[in-house]
Formats: sequence, structure tokens, C-alpha cells
Amino acid sequence: MTSQEWIDRGNAHVAKTYGRFPLVATRGEGSRLWDADGKCYLDFLAGIAVNNLGHCHPKIVAALQQQAAQLIHCSNYFHIPSQIELAELLCENSFGDRVFFCNSGAEANEAAMKLVRKYSAEHFGSDRFEVITALSSFHGRTIGTISATGQDKVKAGFNPLLPGFHYVPFGDAEALRKAITPRICAVMLEPVQGEGGVRVAPPGYLAAVREICDENNLLLVFDEVQVGCGRTGSLFAYQQDGVAPDIMTLAKALAGGPPIGAMVATEKVAESFGPGSHGSTFGGNPLMATTALAAMRTMLEDGVLDNCVAMGDYLRSRLEEFKDRYPFIKEVRGRGLILGMELTIPGADIVTQALERGLLINCTANTVLRFLPPLVVTPEEIDEAMAILDGILQNI
Ligand SMILES: *Cc1c(COP(=O)(O)O)cnc(C)c1O
Repeated sequence: MTSQEWIDRGNAHVAKTYGRFPLVATRGEGSRLWDADGKCYLDFLAGIAVNNLGHCHPKIVAALQQQAAQLIHCSNYFHIPSQIELAELLCENSFGDRVFFCNSGAEANEAAMKLVRKYSAEHFGSDRFEVITALSSFHGRTIGTISATGQDKVKAGFNPLLPGFHYVPFGDAEALRKAITPRICAVMLEPVQGEGGVRVAPPGYLAAVREICDENNLLLVFDEVQVGCGRTGSLFAYQQDGVAPDIMTLAKALAGGPPIGAMVATEKVAESFGPGSHGSTFGGNPLMATTALAAMRTMLEDGVLDNCVAMGDYLRSRLEEFKDRYPFIKEVRGRGLILGMELTIPGADIVTQALERGLLINCTANTVLRFLPPLVVTPEEIDEAMAILDGILQNI
């Protein structure tokens, strides 16, 4: 079957929810992806920050194969050893004490939104349930999480949304302070906004937010669905700001490819969830939990974070070189291996040309080219990607 034949079949019966590129993905290895016609691509999108260990990392493949032959799924009515070990690993390496497992980023944020409501109702009464989030944030695609998201484009056509969300400019602590009313129970932020255009929290911002939350008895939720699990060079992004939240949500790269989400919380807050408060059929099932355990251990033990920092510095320096040479590049920003290059022109055409030339990147917020290579990327692969990009930029 050729790529075009697959595309025609897909166009007939698969939901039209994505503007898909004409690439039919059939195989991956490390930083490379192959299409149905055998063409090879350098993958600097990594499944949108999911394949942090590269495609088909041997330890991920082995964990999946071994666990699949042993036990794939059982109910959360029973204790699951790999889920227990994964919870231990996440708590030992973060501020957290307790973990709820689900299957996606949106679900992790739904869990967080339920938990902050329940905690607030128990401690402060039932009319204190509103949440402050940031403009240009992204928290998922369910009704609840599009309500939380500070971007109108994800909400169009879906009214009525969940009431009680207030949006403030990201990075402006004073605006946050002013938005607080007696009805607010929590603040939810991405330490680095991903979909919003790779915006890093300015120095001191998260610390100021933490202080404001403490003064007003508000819970602080960090959505690390995109930038957690090593992407910024530390296991979790918040660790570089030295500011711990009360709740953190994870998904994307947690298992290095297979779907799993998690909500990590302090004991004090997690207390509010008891039997029956929340649940998920698949959440943390043996197959996903075992794979996530392998992914997180690999992340911590195999020098992946160090490589992320080193390659992040290198890729950033290469992008900065382009900025010095091309006047339509406004800014290069990011942390670790989530890097954005903001242009003065739309980026979509560059993304299409890169794909044609064998490099996968994407564009967020219309003018920001986003680079999310696997954290195991090599300097040679970065050079190869930058040669392709340079060839495109030269013609603009
Ligand atoms: C991708 C993403 C989500 C949603 O995750 P899904 O697994 O697609 O539901 C939520 N928050 C952030 C910051 C994300 O990048």
C-alpha cells in the first residue's frame, strides 16, 4: 500500500479532527521515522514530546513485550505491583506523596480540577471552586479542560463550557494577584507553555505565584503534561524554578510512547480523594505502568537528562546562529529540548517544506517553529536537521 492509498482511505473514514500532513508513519527507530513509501525523516517533533527516548527504545520495547506476555490489564480493584513502583518512583523524585493514574493529559488535568474542588469544598466551603489559569495556556480537549484553556480557538462551538475559570497573562504575578476573589480555590499553570508558543515562565514568576497562593490558601497546580518527564533537562520542569506545586499533572512522555497520565499530589491535598472519589478503568494498568517505570528509570539512569541539557544548549546555539543571519527570526527561546523560534512571518510553510526535505517539526501559535527532538538526539542529527532548515530559510 502506498502512502497516497493510505491517505485516501483515511480521508474516507477517520474523523477529520486533525489537519494531517501527507506522511503515513510505519516505522521508527531513535530519532528517525519512516513512511509507507520507505522515505526516512528526522523526527524533531517526537510525537509532540511523547517519544522522549526516541522511537522504539530497546528498554521500552522489552518492557512492553515482557509485560504483554505476563499480564496486560486487570482492574484497579486489585493492587498492581508496577503501578505501586511507578508511584514510588514519581514521589521519590518529586514534591509528591501520592499519585492517581489515568490515560492522558486531559484526564490528568480533569483529576486535578476535581481534586482542587473537593479539597476546597472540604476546607473552605462549597462556593469556592473557581480556578485561575493563564492566557495562551493549553490543558486538553475535554469540556473541562477546554474551559480551563486560555485560548478561544479550542472553545469555538462547544458552549456551554464549565463556569468558573479566569485567565491572566502568563508571567504577570500582579495580574494574578488582582484576579483573586473569595471564590478562587486554585491556580493552574504550565511552567513552560508548550502549545502557547514555547513560553518559559520568567525568572521569579513561579516563586511569586507560589507566594500569592500561600497567602490566599489557594492550591497551585502545574500542568507538566508536555514539559515534565525530562523534556526541559530536569525530570520535572518546576525543579529548575525551585518552586513546588501542590499538584502536578503528567502524561505525554511518561511511558515514552504508550498512553498513560498521572496526577501527583501532596498528602495534605490527596487526602481529599478517598474510595469512590475518582477512577479510571485503564489508568495505571500493568502494561502501561510497567512501560512507564522502564521509561522513567531509563530517563534517570542512562544519562538522558544530561544529554538533554547538552543537546538543548547545542540546538539553541545553532538556532541562535540562524537568528543572527535571518532578519525574519525574532527570538529563540525554551529550555532543554523544548525550543521555539519565533518568526515575524507565519511558520506553516516552513514546516511543510521541512517535511518534504525529511525533517519533522511543527508550528505553534502561528509564528513559532517548535523543536522537540527525542532527548537522546545526537549532535550529528542536530547538524543534519539544521542543514535542512538552513536550506529552507535561505530561500525566504
Ligand atoms: C498535550 C497537553 C495536554 C493534553 O494531553 P492529552 O494527552 O492530549 O489529553 C494537556 N496539557 C498540556 C500542557 C499539553 O501539552
